[in-house]
Amino acid sequence: MRKKEKAQYVLNILGKLYPKLQVHLIHKTAWELLVATVLSAQCTDARVNQVTPALFAKYPDVFAMSKADVRDLEELMHSTGFYKNKSKNILSTANIIVDKFAGQIPSSMDELVKLDGVARKTANVVLWGAFGINAGLAVDTHVARISVRLGLCKDGSPEEIESALCKIFPQKEWGGVNHRMVSFGRDHCMARNPACSTCPMFEFCPTGKKKV
Ligand code: SF4
Repeated sequence: MRKKEKAQYVLNILGKLYPKLQVHLIHKTAWELLVATVLSAQCTDARVNQVTPALFAKYPDVFAMSKADVRDLEELMHSTGFYKNKSKNILSTANIIVDKFAGQIPSSMDELVKLDGVARKTANVVLWGAFGINAGLAVDTHVARISVRLGLCKDGSPEEIESALCKIFPQKEWGGVNHRMVSFGRDHCMARNPACSTCPMFEFCPTGKKKV
């Protein structure tokens, strides 16, 4: 089966499994989504969602966050791991957004990836989640694992996987592919024990065929 054809099967199945696009990181604004996505590095969305209500209650917008004490941010972000880097990056990013962008979150990939702690994955999540822009396809651990197992692409860096996936999925679906694959990675294609025998992708999944 050609990769584009397989991608269409994957899209159809994901669309049926997850007809509504779920918001994994709770947020009300582009700034909150940016912060939550930075915090989600090496951390579960569930944990981030436990941390952000107190964080955003104390620092309700980018202006308030830009004036925060880094030690207070460290304490609030502690349980998400790598809290020293995360708090330093978020504080620095808040200051850049206030100083250079008058408090508005930039809506282009070029500008977002220049912010501290913001790589392509975070920028893609923010662009799609906050602005509805499909600039790229956010590759996190779920998207990488599932795409390689399904034979949609070779293993490689997130950038290499993103580039391969963007060639076989239609651009308008990129944001949805990320969100739905995250759900699929939690419900079916888990990292340790994927549920291959009951998986709706089993028929065309080379990894599933080897495992069952
Ligand atoms: Fe993942 Fe197994 Fe389904 Fe393949 S068959 S997508 S490895 S759960």
